Amino acid sequence: MKCKRCRNAAAAVDLPSHHAAFCPDCFFVFFRRQVEEGIRKFSLLDSRDRVLVCVSGGKDSLVLWDILMELGYETEGLYIDLGIDGYSDRSREKVLAFAGARRKEPIVVDLRREGVPIPEAARNSRKEECSVCGTVKRYFFNRVAASRGFPVVATGHNLDDETARLLGNLLHWHREHLERQHPLLPEAGEGLVRKVKPLWRLSEMETAAYGFLKGIDYVTEECPMSEDATSLAYKEALSLIEEKMPGTRSKFYQGFLRGNEKPRDGGGEKGIRKDGAEGREEPVHCSMCGAPTYAETCAFCRLKEKVGKGAVR
Ligand code: SF4
Ligand code: ZN
Repeated sequence: MKCKRCRNAAAAVDLPSHHAAFCPDCFFVFFRRQVEEGIRKFSLLDSRDRVLVCVSGGKDSLVLWDILMELGYETEGLYIDLGIDGYSDRSREKVLAFAGARRKEPIVVDLRREGVPIPEAARNSRKEECSVCGTVKRYFFNRVAASRGFPVVATGHNLDDETARLLGNLLHWHREHLERQHPLLPEAGEGLVRKVKPLWRLSEMETAAYGFLKGIDYVTEECPMSEDATSLAYKEALSLIEEKMPGTRSKFYQGFLRGNEKPRDGGGEKGIRKDGAEGREEPVHCSMCGAPTYAETCAFCRLKEKVGKGAVR
């Protein structure tokens, strides 16, 4: 099959949802345009922004860092070592190799050193690993961005991630979560920086193809904590539908966003609170670490207390 764009080279990537098939060079053009359109549509980034890119060592985040550099953004990578034996070491290696090849040095937060490696933190606090991981990551995204002067944090969530989350939120009618589901979460006060997802228009298959064709070496194994994550079931269900009706994922998410053009102001962060206590309108400083929070003590310090290590600083 010939590439549908240049009609010259052999097609390497088949995209039934776009009724297209591209050769590698034309696929890169397609991919770049999708990212540019995703950024433009909701003004995710300004060309002068210094962007803190959260990289896990997986394909999506490394592809995101690669394409943002290619688009000319000033970027730095943030790697959070989750303290998961074996997996975290292999992920860190991939991030360091990727960054080194581009003469970059990622900022590394080591959760073992911070006293909250995810497996131990989950065990001691009697919470799910992914819930603990979410709390800790949000905390360090904000802390590192604020302390180093980044106005925005970018993550590699793709269309498959966002539609799986949307399906889950709809099936359980999590209205609060639906209001906050958006490629853009605006800054919610001092120290709670803007969060963006520039790959929201691209599927997992498309980011994988981009990573492969660009020769990006990423960690291919799943996080071992993800085994029974319900989001995998939603992804599988959507993949079955997508196979029968290509383009459904994109229509599903874009249709949702049409009714939700503006994300709720200051979304995201209020979701940290799961203790049922009355929330505050404006963030205050955590009584233990000083980070912005809607409670007396931030979710991270409460977690650290449960893990039995005391306050952060
Ligand atoms: Fe964190 Fe869970 Fe994702 Fe693993 S699967 S990185 S524990 S959120
Ligand atoms: Zn705190």
